[in-house]
Amino acid sequence: MSTDWKQSTKLVHGGIRRSQYGEVAEAIYMTQGFVYDTAEAAQARFEEAGPDEFIYARYGNPTVDMFEKRIAALEGAEDAFATASGMAAVNGALMSVCSAGDHVVAARALFGSCLYILQNVLGRYGVEITLVDGTDLDQWKAAIRPDTKAVFFESTSNPTLEVIDIKGVSELAHAVGALVLVDNVFATPVYSRAIELGADVVIYSATKHIDGQGRALGGVVLGTQEFIRETLMPYLKHTGAALSPFNAWLMLKGLETIKLRVDAQSRNAAAVAKAIQGHEKLARVIYPGLEDHAQHALVQTQTSGNGGTVIAIDMKEGKEAAFRFLNAIRVGVISNNLGDAKSILTHPATTTHASLSDEQREVLGITPGLIRFSLGIEDESDLVADVLQALEQA
Ligand SMILES: *Cc1c(COP(=O)(O)O)cnc(C)c1O
Repeated sequence: MSTDWKQSTKLVHGGIRRSQYGEVAEAIYMTQGFVYDTAEAAQARFEEAGPDEFIYARYGNPTVDMFEKRIAALEGAEDAFATASGMAAVNGALMSVCSAGDHVVAARALFGSCLYILQNVLGRYGVEITLVDGTDLDQWKAAIRPDTKAVFFESTSNPTLEVIDIKGVSELAHAVGALVLVDNVFATPVYSRAIELGADVVIYSATKHIDGQGRALGGVVLGTQEFIRETLMPYLKHTGAALSPFNAWLMLKGLETIKLRVDAQSRNAAAVAKAIQGHEKLARVIYPGLEDHAQHALVQTQTSGNGGTVIAIDMKEGKEAAFRFLNAIRVGVISNNLGDAKSILTHPATTTHASLSDEQREVLGITPGLIRFSLGIEDESDLVADVLQALEQA
């Protein structure tokens, strides 16, 4: 693979390892282990495995390696380690970095499970966590201390789509030598420039846009070779969050078409957002691609102007209206995944964010009328017509 290749080429050919059969589609090495020709060869491999040598699927596997190499090429990262889910990736990255007594600053607008790892897991082991309004660089500046070990945030937050300044936060963090870990799910690897802007570690739930077809859980952590092999991998290989080779194969095939899908999805998201902006039944339409989005200027540089595949809408009349809207939708399904080829609608206050207190939801802008709408690849005019008829009925 050439590092000069453009994104679409890397997505199809990146990371391929062909066996002696010259298969076209990537092979699924559904094996837990590997045979050594001699006892001496086993010993040598445990001492140091070469680039084409594997020991045990918890440490690495050829199909998983193809996925890691392909996404690392796409992201512009030196290396990657794949995990069984997005949360295993977040947990692995944070747990491998932090020790008792360390200080971590994180944006408060976080996926519930990320908040659980920070507060309930790291907190229990004596890591001090400070939460800030991630969109306010002054708050980051005030919270980051000389002894801050790491900062963590979702570059675009779930579900209210706040966009956090990767470059600005990275500069503040790097000034004290803190590591910058970015959960980059909503930006997608296609529109991400996270590493270029200063992120040290980029994390994806592959369950979302990378699979993109609702089939499997997966995750991946990207960073320098030194970070991945010497900090992250020792923790993950011993604690066992390895991605299954079969799921790695699904993710590889997902990467082949991810650009086609997320381009179509973000076109649909922009079209629906524009079609319903200012609708009388809506208090707000949140989409990072709209000019009235609070971080619209930042979106121009951080994701090259692409607003992403998800919009959030807030019904003026609250939960009842939101439920009427959801129940009237035909092009799309009510579920809690996102980034899928099918449009998926979620009512965060009663599902994904139900475990938060009313006060926490209010701080995060998760109102009773809020709906998260992940756009699929359906026809734009069908989606727009459907959303307008559902708003009529709401
Ligand atoms: C879904 C999601 C995760 C968790 O990923 P899983 O694959 O479900 O474990 C983490 N962060 C964000 C922003 C997500 O949307």
